[in-house]
Amino acid sequence: MKCRHCGSDLNLELINLGFAPPSNSYLKPEDLRQPEKHYPLRVLVCEECWLTQTEDFVGHEQLFSSEYAYFSSCSSGWVEHARRYVDEVVEKLDLNRESLVIEVAANDGYLLQHVVAKKIPCYGIEPTTSTANAARERGITIVEEFFNRATAKRLLRERGPANLMIANNVLAHVPDINNFVAGFVILLKQTGVATFEFPHLLNLVQGMQFDTIYHEHFSYPSLDSIINVFTTNGLNVFDVEEIPTHGGSIRIYAQRADRRPYPTQQRVQDLLDKEIAIGMRTKEFYKTFQQTADRITCDLISFLVDCRKEGKSVIAYGAAAKGNTILNYAGIRPNLLPCVYDASPAKGGKFLPASHIPIYPSSEFPNHYSDYVLILPWNLTSEIMTLYPQVLERGSKWVTAIPSLKIHSRVDPTSPGHSFTTQA
Ligand SMILES: [Zn+2]
Repeated sequence: MKCRHCGSDLNLELINLGFAPPSNSYLKPEDLRQPEKHYPLRVLVCEECWLTQTEDFVGHEQLFSSEYAYFSSCSSGWVEHARRYVDEVVEKLDLNRESLVIEVAANDGYLLQHVVAKKIPCYGIEPTTSTANAARERGITIVEEFFNRATAKRLLRERGPANLMIANNVLAHVPDINNFVAGFVILLKQTGVATFEFPHLLNLVQGMQFDTIYHEHFSYPSLDSIINVFTTNGLNVFDVEEIPTHGGSIRIYAQRADRRPYPTQQRVQDLLDKEIAIGMRTKEFYKTFQQTADRITCDLISFLVDCRKEGKSVIAYGAAAKGNTILNYAGIRPNLLPCVYDASPAKGGKFLPASHIPIYPSSEFPNHYSDYVLILPWNLTSEIMTLYPQVLERGSKWVTAIPSLKIHSRVDPTSPGHSFTTQA
């Protein structure tokens, strides 16, 4: 395979997770009588531009079907993160009723609702019908399409250029990353700004977040590799912030490279220097990832097998895509993990792909006693533990598997996300 950005041959492997169905292809009861398609899931690193990427991709149509089940608003922490961002950026860029804000991958309107509340003109671009409809119910205009050069040209003619374009957690989901990034240059005003948030490859590798690898994620960018992609396509990165979401993300600020109204902040060079100093432009950085992921997987299997032998019950919370990666790689089935609870109405009553573990609505979770509850979306550990204080009160324990198996006996309020004081 050739690099999806620069076209070089890809020979350096980060990890091979075997075969798996698309992580978001939740199954209805009747689907359990059908064969299920599995695709290879292998991640390679380009030694020319250092873009880390999945080897092959399934056609978009199947990955982002109209029943795509991820609704951003299901995480209250994520909605709050979006509200704070909107407050900050509106002030920073002095946006007002004359401005235009466009969000690419607007999902269910979790972010644009805060822009609408400020009476700033905006619309979202979202190819998935189910989430687009949820956004419309919040009073947000949605263009139901994939974003690329052609879409950008048409929207520029029909609706004019944007002061601000937002793209959160979508860069990774785009197979043709050049065509996607080039669209921003077309649709931005000469003085416009585009911000992008994405999980940082540095944290993925150092935090052993191999469960965030799935077919729907085509690329796993570092600042270094994304600057290469942006520069080639006419965008200039002028600022960067490290943020705690999704296990450690970065937010970058970009402008049209032909205009550059904003001076480049020192933080860009500083983070780039940090990535290079850690070795992200060397093979060694990527070499031990598979081995460590295998150890983590074995630890989870051993824990579940030991519980089973000792007659202790384990259930799961959060039917997240990342859960599917680890459950399928580990070969875990309902005999070891009988069910998972989830807050998304779109997932309740369905089954996880491949493992066929049934998903129950989170409203019933407080009534289900078990000795342990495995949190699959470990990035929301604090939020989930706080939401259900009764779990610890009745003597059950929370468990997370990434970056290593941990049993949590209390919430650490100073530490949102996955670093906790624990007790084995
Ligand atoms: Zn490349």
